[in-house]
Amino acid sequence: MERICNRCGCSSFHYNRSRMRMECDLCGTPVYDAQQDQQLMQFDRTYSQAMSHLAAGNWNQTIGILKPLLTQHPTEKKLYIAILRAATKDYQDISMDNTTDRSSASDAWDKLIRLNGETGEMIRYCRRRYEKHREELEMQKNRLLAWLFAAAICSGIAGFLIGMSYYFGAVVCTGGLIGCLYKVVSYHPIKVIKQLTSAVPDYRNNPFI
Ligand SMILES: [Zn+2]
Repeated sequence: MERICNRCGCSSFHYNRSRMRMECDLCGTPVYDAQQDQQLMQFDRTYSQAMSHLAAGNWNQTIGILKPLLTQHPTEKKLYIAILRAATKDYQDISMDNTTDRSSASDAWDKLIRLNGETGEMIRYCRRRYEKHREELEMQKNRLLAWLFAAAICSGIAGFLIGMSYYFGAVVCTGGLIGCLYKVVSYHPIKVIKQLTSAVPDYRNNPFI
């Protein structure tokens, strides 16, 4: 069956190598063959099915449906955005403890940055993650200070008891002091201080590494 350009009605076509498609000789409108139409329709339907799963909160199904599409459409940004949304439970999972989801999210994030496809939603998500991390660090710092304070009290009392020649009590307090210092070290004080004093990161950086 002869095809006719649906824009101008012309019936002759040529192959445009730079665009890798058949075009109308007169107006340049692309013509898709039946197979291409079929592929596009299949893509749209699969994508739409994945979006329904995403809306319903079926995160794993969404990723499972979308990943095979990437082999055919590796630069399609909306696929990576949808995978990222599913892997982060629509940007609600801040801790990302599941390693499979984390790796899916990490891959999608890298591709979106490479394709200049980052969204405001991604940047806001990254900022929320960073703020939560800061809160945890602050809490860790407070616990550290509390144990340091306890250590100071133990050493003060131990000193006082030695002065009063209550050696047994002094030994007990020294034990307490060692216990407190052990606690302080277990909170990795240098790491906490380093992270608390470091500058705000670039929110485009992959937060899942
Ligand atoms: Zn035409």
